[in-house]
Amino acid sequence: MKSELCNRCGSCVGLSEGKIIFENKEGKYLPKIIGDIDDTLAQRLWTACTGQDFNFPHYRKVFFGETKQFHTYTGPYENIYIGHTNDEEVRRKAASGGILSSILIYLLEKKLIDGAVVLRMSPTIPWLSEPHIATTKEEILEAAQSKYTISSVNEILPEVENFKGNLAYVGLPPQVQSIRKLQEINDPSVHAIKYIFGPFYGNTLYFSSIISFLKSYKIKDYRQIEKLYFRHGEWPGNMRIETKQGQVIELKKFHANYLIPFHVLRNSLYCTDFTNEFTDISGGDAWSPVYEERGKGFSMILSRSKKGQEIIGNMVKDGWLIADPLGEEEAIRMHSHGYDFKKRGSFIRIKFRKLMGKSIPDYGYSQSGFPIKRYIMEMIISGMFLILSTSLARWIVEQFSPSFIGKFFEKARTSWKNSTKKVKQQNLGQ
Ligand SMILES: Cc1cc2nc3c(=O)[nH]c(=O)nc-3n(C[C@H](O)[C@H](O)[C@H](O)COP(=O)(O)OP(=O)(O)OC[C@H]3O[C@@H](n4cnc5c(N)ncnc54)[C@H](O)[C@@H]3O)c2cc1C
Repeated sequence: MKSELCNRCGSCVGLSEGKIIFENKEGKYLPKIIGDIDDTLAQRLWTACTGQDFNFPHYRKVFFGETKQFHTYTGPYENIYIGHTNDEEVRRKAASGGILSSILIYLLEKKLIDGAVVLRMSPTIPWLSEPHIATTKEEILEAAQSKYTISSVNEILPEVENFKGNLAYVGLPPQVQSIRKLQEINDPSVHAIKYIFGPFYGNTLYFSSIISFLKSYKIKDYRQIEKLYFRHGEWPGNMRIETKQGQVIELKKFHANYLIPFHVLRNSLYCTDFTNEFTDISGGDAWSPVYEERGKGFSMILSRSKKGQEIIGNMVKDGWLIADPLGEEEAIRMHSHGYDFKKRGSFIRIKFRKLMGKSIPDYGYSQSGFPIKRYIMEMIISGMFLILSTSLARWIVEQFSPSFIGKFFEKARTSWKNSTKKVKQQNLGQ
């Protein structure tokens, strides 16, 4: 909790019987102990915590022993696809190709589940997200789209434990990892969960990103937010805020990415799971000029378990989904930036942390032997994150119009990506 390794998955809060709460969700969003925790409860919470450890090889063996394919970058998988849902309404409302929402709706309509754990924007505190058990198509759609500020889905575990029926669960990698740890010990809180899905995960942001974004538009009080979207409109979508006064602010997703280096959650820099490796099916954006030019929304899909593969196969057969197979090499190339950031960058950042004498997470595996230039590059990136997260840097950026900064950021990012391509792709995937 105090070591920057807490990933805010919400498990300790959910399982604590009210003895742990999240303090200041608009700030640091850290769990705080407010009651007495006996040894038995402490042991349960410690087991569920993925900030300290999550042994990738061990859990791979436990949950994906039979899976056909494996690569350290992608994790275990049966097949990789590029695709989208055939339901235009779902595709329009979703973040990418509407795969995740469509799967949930399919399972619900086929009566394979009775509900789905999703993350929606809170109806009462509209600037914060909250986990919810959706039991209708409408509720699943209401929770579609990515939320890029901190989410703590596993706070909902008491509701999951009391749910009568079968559930699907959607979460980010650290949240999913915690569910897997609880499944391994047969904890009652996760008995209802029959399927696990999740998005790819680059990083997540503190709520300060929203406060800062509003300040750039001279809006001082975030409580004026009535609606907050991170991927509104046609893929890749826009960050959009509607205020109680009727003001509408919109910025292209790629331009809103300027907020990342100023507000990135430190813990997400130490997470080494990019493609949500412990789900039954995971999905990310199909970042490639071929698809980006077409708009509308395309996803990369990884079916990992036998039951995940069965769902994709049936959905394609029943006309719910378009899913064209994609080779592993091509899939890694399409997300080379993400893999480099998570499967190399995170391990180098963890090494830096260790050198500074700070506690580090134990993932049961590590990656090393990168070119020396990659280490130098990481020093620049980490240095930049450090400088840009200071109050002064944030204040300076707030003095400019986000559309100007966004365009500048996109150009700078593209030229940085091009100039570092060689270093990033050197031996990538080996
Ligand atoms: C924080 C974050 C970072 C991401 N980084 C990348 C990246 O670097 N590269 C990439 O290719 N893709 C990334 N994605 C995934 C991408 O944005 C889409 O979520 C993914 O392509 C699935 O699209 P979809 O249309 O199938 O999902 P949808 O049909 O829109 O469904 C999304 C589902 O995810 C749930 N969800 C949304 N946000 C969260 C959250 N914060 N925590 C838990 N559950 C959530 C929703 O409740 C919904 O059920 C990221 C997503 C998130 C949330």
